Amino acid sequence: MVRPVAAFDRLGEENAFAVLARASELSAQGHDVINLGIGQPDFRTPEHIVEAAVRALRDGKHGYTDSTGIVELREAVSAHVAGRTGVTIPADRVMIMPGGKVTMFAAIMMFGEPGVDILYPDPGFPIYKSMIDYTGARAIPVPIREENHFAFSAEELLSLITPETRLVILNSPANPTAGVTPRGEINRLVAGLLEHPYAAVLSDEIYDRILYDDAEHVSLLSFPEIRNRVILLNGWSKTYAMTGWRLGWSIWPTALIDRVRKLAVNGWSCVNAPTQYAGIAALEGPQDSVTRMVEEFDRRRRVTVDVLNAVPGVSCVLPTGAFYTFPNITGTGWSAKPLASALLERTGVALIGGPDFGELGEGYLRVSYANSEENIRRGLERVGGFLAEHRAAAH
Ligand code: PLP
Repeated sequence: MVRPVAAFDRLGEENAFAVLARASELSAQGHDVINLGIGQPDFRTPEHIVEAAVRALRDGKHGYTDSTGIVELREAVSAHVAGRTGVTIPADRVMIMPGGKVTMFAAIMMFGEPGVDILYPDPGFPIYKSMIDYTGARAIPVPIREENHFAFSAEELLSLITPETRLVILNSPANPTAGVTPRGEINRLVAGLLEHPYAAVLSDEIYDRILYDDAEHVSLLSFPEIRNRVILLNGWSKTYAMTGWRLGWSIWPTALIDRVRKLAVNGWSCVNAPTQYAGIAALEGPQDSVTRMVEEFDRRRRVTVDVLNAVPGVSCVLPTGAFYTFPNITGTGWSAKPLASALLERTGVALIGGPDFGELGEGYLRVSYANSEENIRRGLERVGGFLAEHRAAAH
């Protein structure tokens, strides 16, 4: 009998992929499935970005690259970050990754071990806790609360830091709640972190350009007092509709960049070359596709929230970032996962139960509006119809 190490038994899952698989299965069987569970933009990657990758292949740019990424791309990231935050980060602190997720993988591997604490948002992206558990570190949930508009509370977060805390994971705008943490709260957090010099910060800012109304994105990079311990996670997946390209970037403190480079050498060598050329075209080319996408998401966001709030027992705050809503379903009498599962199996509407993002996700569903307005309306109509029929039963 083979004997793999126990750490692998502690790895978790991203249930959105399982829901996607089940939705495709039902669809293949002829069911009319409406997917509101999806975590990726339903737009095509803009043509000039696709062209840049095709051109790179035709020009023979398909060999290994530097493990940290081609220098032109790292310089493009550095210029992009300077343009957005006013902070100049040298290109040798930029790491090109095969997707945003790989930065969290690397950062958690770098700080997690038995005996230390890592703080993560709950509800939050499920891979944070999964990877913390893998390393044997203690996973300490930071509650993300509806009454706080799904922003984190600096006071509550700081109260959870101990001398054993090695890493604090932040995510704003957030998945699954779509909460955006305001500047005041981030200022308070940064001030408090000065008392805890051993705690590094992983700031997941992958949704930084998907914002609505007067929401403001405050990058953790913009605080010089903690810049030597902030790892910034970002990438192309959401902003440029490039989830399947597998391309992300991160910014690392000088003291850590060589460690992550070595991890790349040992793991994936480099990101595939044509994809990196596409990344340059995305950052340096026209940005109107991003503006149009966010405008379209904004229209759908309002429709989604209006329709959800009209369903008896459901209440939904108007989110100001990302492309998710996180309706509270406690008034329906249903628990979240049985409801999500019944909705998929009996009405063909795919969405994700809140507990798939952490224990504090109970009582909520994640409804993505990365689908057409027509499908959103049709899907949510089915949800309303199902709940009207099945309200009486206690679940
Ligand atoms: N971080 C958050 C909060 C996400 O929601 C996602 C994707 O859903 C990622 C990171 C990973 O992005 P990528 O597809 O680039 O690995």
